[in-house]
Parts: sequence; structure tokens; C-alpha cells
Amino acid sequence: MLGALAGDIIGSRFEGHPAPPDGFEFFHRDCRFTDDTVCTLAVAEALMSGQDIAKTLRSFVRRYPDAGYGGMFLRWAFTDEAPAYGSWGNGAPMRVAAVGWWARSEAEAMELATAQAVVSHDHPDAVTAAQAVATAILHLRQGDAPDAVHAQLTTRFGYDLRPETALRRGGFDVSAAGTVPPALTAAFEATGWEEAVRTAVGLGGDTDTLACITGAVAEAIHGVPEPITDRARGLLTDDLRAVLDRFEQALATRA
Ligand SMILES: [Mg+2]
Repeated sequence: MLGALAGDIIGSRFEGHPAPPDGFEFFHRDCRFTDDTVCTLAVAEALMSGQDIAKTLRSFVRRYPDAGYGGMFLRWAFTDEAPAYGSWGNGAPMRVAAVGWWARSEAEAMELATAQAVVSHDHPDAVTAAQAVATAILHLRQGDAPDAVHAQLTTRFGYDLRPETALRRGGFDVSAAGTVPPALTAAFEATGWEEAVRTAVGLGGDTDTLACITGAVAEAIHGVPEPITDRARGLLTDDLRAVLDRFEQALATRA
């Protein structure tokens, strides 16, 4: 799951830029974790503790209120018991990575991906995007061939993952349906984790979320190189790093 956090951190300094220069530095001093990391770890915490997902998300957001959330989500997070607000935004797939590592079956991945989405992002596009990312991570980490997982994402979820259409640069698209195909394609087309994230960030726009999703899926294919995991870990706060550590330990002992 650290691949998601590292992607967020690497993409953070280019959010809203049209397209970063080729060969950009991964861990520049302006890099920081953003809402993608906070929400991903909140979902991880909810999964391992069994606590209410909405409550856990709200408590994490309130601890880190300046991490770069969208306005509607922030209002939701600061309003106890606020209902989901029909969002089709990429917040649902951006925070789902832990589900792909936690779930032990396709059915469980679908159920948990949906559950973590619908507390706020209950538009079908957002739910579908979260399901697609979570099940892709599950199958890839279980050793399914990337080609087979790729084919399933197209036939079952309806995504066009052809590089010539999915990897077009430009614009700032925060929709789930517009973010997940390029993020997935960047992961599937690359020969390694770093290349995948470089492609995602190079698309410009919502770079931290693109790279978060790409980094999460690419981790399930390639793993994350250790120098990257070390740097990303070092940029978390102590309490967020503790959540990550506990999640990794919980995964190691989860049958
Ligand atoms: Mg962000």
C-alpha cells in the first residue's frame, strides 16, 4: 500500500500543472503527503480496526485538515453524520488501495471497495472506479497475469485502457471515470514502478491522485523500490507512519 502514498508524495508538487518536465526529481523538497495519503491510511485503519469507515475518515481528516481536500469532502468530513453527497470524484478510488491488500477474495474486495466509497462518493462512477482499482490490486498481488487483469478491467468495468486514448495529457480532471483509466494505463504499460509513476505525473492535472492510484496498482505488479519506500516513509508524520506500520504487520499475519 505504500506505493499509493509514495505516488501521492511524488505527484504532490505538480498538482494543477499542465505537464511537469521530463526527468523531474521524485523527492524534491516541495514534496509532501496530501489528502490521498491521509484518506488511504484512514481506510486502512478502518479495515484493521473494524471501526466505522465514515467515522474513521472524519477523524483522520480533522487531524490533517489542510492536506488538500475538495471543498465538498471537507464539509462532509467536518459534519458528523452528514450523508454521502453523490460525488463522482476521484476520492473513492484514490483512497481504496488498502482494500486490495486486505481483501482475501474478489467478493470481499468488491464489498469493501463499495463500502469505503459510498460513505461520501456514492455516484456509480465513483463506486465502479474504487471497485476496479481494488480488484486489480487484489488479483495482481495474488499473482494473476497483468494481461488478464488488464482485460478484465476493460470487459468488466468498461474502461478504455489503450495508451493512445487513456494517456492523453492536459486538463485537470478530478472525476473518478476520468482519473482511473489513465492511472491504470500508466501502471500496466510500465516496466517498473518508477516508470509508471513518472508517466502518471507526466500527464499533468491531478498529479498526486493519478500517481497515488498508479503507484498503488504498479506496486501490486512490480513492488516499490526500497529507496522510494524509505523516502516516502520518512515524509510521513509519526502517527501516520504508525498506521502504515500496523497495517503492514496486520497484513503479514492475516491468513
Ligand atoms: Mg491530493
